[in-house]
Amino acid sequence: MNIPGSGIIKGLAVTARNFLGSYVEKDRLTTEQYPEERPKLPENARSFPFLVFDGEDPEAGMRCVSCKICEKECPPQCIYIVQDRDAAGKAIKRPKVFDIDISVCMSCQICVEVCPFESIRMDQDYELSSFDRFGSLVLGKSRLLKSNTYYRNIHPTEAAETDARLEADRKKKEAAAAAKAAAAEKAAAEKAAKAAVEPEVKA
Ligand code: SF4
Ligand code: SF4
Repeated sequence: MNIPGSGIIKGLAVTARNFLGSYVEKDRLTTEQYPEERPKLPENARSFPFLVFDGEDPEAGMRCVSCKICEKECPPQCIYIVQDRDAAGKAIKRPKVFDIDISVCMSCQICVEVCPFESIRMDQDYELSSFDRFGSLVLGKSRLLKSNTYYRNIHPTEAAETDARLEADRKKKEAAAAAKAAAAEKAAAEKAAKAAVEPEVKA
């Protein structure tokens, strides 16, 4: 049987336990001296997307090939891509412009899920507030491109899986190229052998 008011007493007891516990129990000492101290975020924490590049040069190592799948699939349509072109006007597999409007982005991660080239990942940077709506919240390539080392640092498990997948793909491509070269070499040798036999037959 519930005694009238017992719920209030139970609630107050929980509050009192938490209040007193917050002074003595280590697990409850959750206050951090932000911004002097920044919390180490859990690995699956995410803010907005960024573009991954390999090596030292962001432009040369950019994984993005400007396929525009992410742009098409982004629900609020906050990605804007312009494909790069060479001097003759031929399309190059890299973006000339890659912008994300993070004032619109809802951090859904769909762009990451649909990218076939492991090029776009979710960042953990959360200190992005600004009074400058267009200058600061529309992130261009220069702010979006971050190294694979950075990615490994913020999402070590996911980055290790991605690296393993890319390495497996690279080995597969190398094996396919080697098999193709061997087949071409064999065909050329067979053709040469046949050409060498034919004059003898004619004679
Ligand atoms: S996280 Fe979602 S909303 Fe943000 S850019 Fe990617 S697909 Fe668009
Ligand atoms: S980030 Fe991925 S999906 Fe988006 S354009 Fe680049 S390669 Fe394509």
